Amino acid sequence: MKVPLLDLKAQYRSLKTELDAALLRVAESQVLALGPEVDQLEGRLAEFCGTRYALGVTSGTDALLLPLMALNLQPGDEVIVPTFSFFATAGVVARLRAVPVFVDIDPVSFCIDPEAIAAHIGPRTKAIIPVHLYGQCAAMDEINAIADANGIPVIEDAAQSIGAQYRNGRRAGSMGLAGSFSFYPTKNLGAFGDAGLVTTNDEELFQTMKLMRVHGGERRYYHRIIGGNFRMDAIQAAVLNVKFSKLAEWSAACRDHAELYSNLFIDAGLAQEEGRISYDEANSILLPKALYKSDALTDYHIYHQYVIRVPQRDSLLRYLQEREIGAGVYYPVPFHRQECFSYLDCNPHHFPVAEAAAQQVLALPIYPELRREQIEFVVESIAAGIRDQRAGE
Ligand SMILES: *Cc1c(COP(=O)(O)O)cnc(C)c1O
Repeated sequence: MKVPLLDLKAQYRSLKTELDAALLRVAESQVLALGPEVDQLEGRLAEFCGTRYALGVTSGTDALLLPLMALNLQPGDEVIVPTFSFFATAGVVARLRAVPVFVDIDPVSFCIDPEAIAAHIGPRTKAIIPVHLYGQCAAMDEINAIADANGIPVIEDAAQSIGAQYRNGRRAGSMGLAGSFSFYPTKNLGAFGDAGLVTTNDEELFQTMKLMRVHGGERRYYHRIIGGNFRMDAIQAAVLNVKFSKLAEWSAACRDHAELYSNLFIDAGLAQEEGRISYDEANSILLPKALYKSDALTDYHIYHQYVIRVPQRDSLLRYLQEREIGAGVYYPVPFHRQECFSYLDCNPHHFPVAEAAAQQVLALPIYPELRREQIEFVVESIAAGIRDQRAGE
């Protein structure tokens, strides 16, 4: 049995009629950049996320870059980011010649550690970018408390967590000054190429970003400020408008799959309850924990990834690959170890939690179309792989 890490063809088949019609509609209209499809998507996502505004842009990376540009970040300004995330989170800061200040993560959520933020705020700190990693929100109440006390804006990197709810039902992207989303095809809401979106409640920031999206010009060929080309393609918006209708259903399916994985690992005697952070005899696998799970919240986690921790990760990964099971490592190299950031001269010992995570995390296949037998096969294979490892010791 093959179990791919993700199956976009299955998703396309399930919506083929609607998606094909949407693509043709855009082709017939020949309104190809921005336009009514983008307007519609922005309206829907602002409402869904619970923000006043949403702005469709070229990619998730640009959705992070744009609010930082609008904040008028200067060379030498500092931006606090978790050291454990997709590269874009730090890359956008460095691209503006500002300094990314890396901080460690929390061992249960894998998201930025609020106490580490507090320890790194200085006179040049101009923004904080928490990442809602793997599909659940970072500790936003604690982060906002620190940010507010210091008058520092928070940009939420919500690329992996569209719709994810935090305490009181607030959704990712509605809790900071701005929220940045990616619609890269592998994200939970994926376009047919690159696209992204910024949410905000701040009127002034919204107007600035809107202007910057089209090279800072209110009227064509008259440029008030310097921006870029951050326009979203109409085709991407049309695809997303179709897929958006399925998002709630897809997120629920991923939650069910995650629950099944965890129960099967516990039943197999490989793991104890979710959220443990160290191994013991009856505990070869550490399970992810949905921190905000409660009866009041439906979308407490959207499981962009279902990530376990295992001590001998790389040999288990090879074992799974031999069995044609797609598993992935997000992320093997934290920012403080990236070659391009060697000029920052970071000491890896300052990031013990991220260091361990980079060695141990293993993402298992999770997507709505995944079948029960496939999940069972993944769990059986991991059990067999771990037995093999123990026999070889
Ligand atoms: C995917 C992702 C991005 C960047 O999005 P792109 O659309 O690929 O540019 C940024 N941050 C995180 C955490 C991501 O997962």
